[in-house]
Amino acid sequence: MANIYLRRTNFWAYMIDNNFRVTFKAILRCRSVLQTAICRNMKDGKNTNLWLDPWLGSRSLLEIVGGQLDREAGRGLTCSRIIRDGIWRPEGYPYTAQLAEEIRQITIDDSQYEDSWSWAGPGSDGGSGLFCFRSCYDMVRTHHDRTEEVDFIWGKGIVRKMQLCAYRLLRGRLMTRDRLLRFGIQIPDVKCVLCNGVDESMGHLFFECPTSWHIWAEQCVQLRGGVGMDRDIRSILSWIRDHRGRDPGWAR
Ligand SMILES: [Zn+2]
Repeated sequence: MANIYLRRTNFWAYMIDNNFRVTFKAILRCRSVLQTAICRNMKDGKNTNLWLDPWLGSRSLLEIVGGQLDREAGRGLTCSRIIRDGIWRPEGYPYTAQLAEEIRQITIDDSQYEDSWSWAGPGSDGGSGLFCFRSCYDMVRTHHDRTEEVDFIWGKGIVRKMQLCAYRLLRGRLMTRDRLLRFGIQIPDVKCVLCNGVDESMGHLFFECPTSWHIWAEQCVQLRGGVGMDRDIRSILSWIRDHRGRDPGWAR
């Protein structure tokens, strides 16, 4: 990554640009979380940025000292400036005596060929320091509380593709035209694909659009349930839960 994407900057100081791909922006936004699960194995400090890499616990020197850093100067300075003959020499830099003492306590690992990262995320492999995708994913993913709606969606009897659609709708993650446009994806028209009346959003497409609401109402009549539900996903899910089994059209 450093050689291809970050040749002119430091990963930890990289400014997010709206032109970046969605995945790369998501990775950059996770940095503050990832920082808490990595630590630096120090050898000679030659490939550890003195100011920008989080080598002091999970923080960088810039975070601790604060203030602005001249980008050019910050890019070039490595920890090798304060390591000589395998010993920390933090004297002469603009930080406190206490911080200098903390730096002296950091182990310089002679068994390493060069400075390296270790992974210490939750559930990682017994302190080996090896990166673990499951541990990393568990840290950065959004943790939602289990709810009745979620249990119902993933329960038995709902067609698979409807489960996925309903879950994404519940989480607000369906790619309706308004979201596509927000993500910078070029689309010919942002109007609702069903009625062409207003901009297509999740709320409109599924609940407010006259066409889709007509379909819901038809289902209600068929199941003799009446159109007594509110126009939102939670209300509709609880309605389906109460009426399931009366018609195999949407469930199996
Ligand atoms: Zn519509």
